[in-house]
Amino acid sequence: MAAKAHAILSASSSDRWLHCPPSVRLCETYEDKGSDYAAEGTDAHALGEYKLKTVLGLPADDPTDSLKWYSEEMEDATSGYAEYVLEQVEAAKETCTDPVVLIEQRVDFSRWVEQGFGTADCIIIADGTLRVIDYKHGLGVLVSAKENPQMQCYALGALELFDDIYDIDQVSMTIYQPRRQNVSTYEISKDDLYRWADEVLKPTADLAFAGDGNFLCGEWCSFCKAKNECAPELRQI
Ligand code: SF4
Repeated sequence: MAAKAHAILSASSSDRWLHCPPSVRLCETYEDKGSDYAAEGTDAHALGEYKLKTVLGLPADDPTDSLKWYSEEMEDATSGYAEYVLEQVEAAKETCTDPVVLIEQRVDFSRWVEQGFGTADCIIIADGTLRVIDYKHGLGVLVSAKENPQMQCYALGALELFDDIYDIDQVSMTIYQPRRQNVSTYEISKDDLYRWADEVLKPTADLAFAGDGNFLCGEWCSFCKAKNECAPELRQI
């Protein structure tokens, strides 16, 4: 099948396709309509990026006038995000003279996931730890960082860029979800992350890309385009 411009196996849907690999090719038969929630999240990310760059003293253009979904709540939520990341950078500076900070960094994890790439909101490298921070504007679902495959894919992509350059042995992943007052952090050794990537992520991604594997129903179905028509007899629970 011909490659598409967007990631077929997106990190954001990895919880679904890791549980139900054939959902990837099934979902391709449905139109991608987008949603107001996604558009609001995109606006919030743009504002958060601007604010983070500003508090870190980096040049940035204020996108506020072009944001369709701008609100006071978005203003507060993204200010909190910028302050939170700044605190983490300042904390890193206490033990590391020159921490590396990257904002909206494209990451490529295609070594494990065919055509897999994404954008990490913020990456901090200091003292042997690679840290990935992801802003979630959504209210609907409380997102945990614990064994979160999207975060682990981003961390793998970040390791692809920096593991040869810096001495990294630990990986920390944080979900910052201000509208749910949720800051969730999960740490894993680099070796354990690579083990998961080789033993779980890659073989399952290969199945999903090929359209193979077993259908499996669970809470991940709520984000599946096929959820209203997926044949119930194919579901295993
Ligand atoms: S609805 Fe659930 S079981 Fe059916 S394809 Fe989607 S993720 Fe798989």
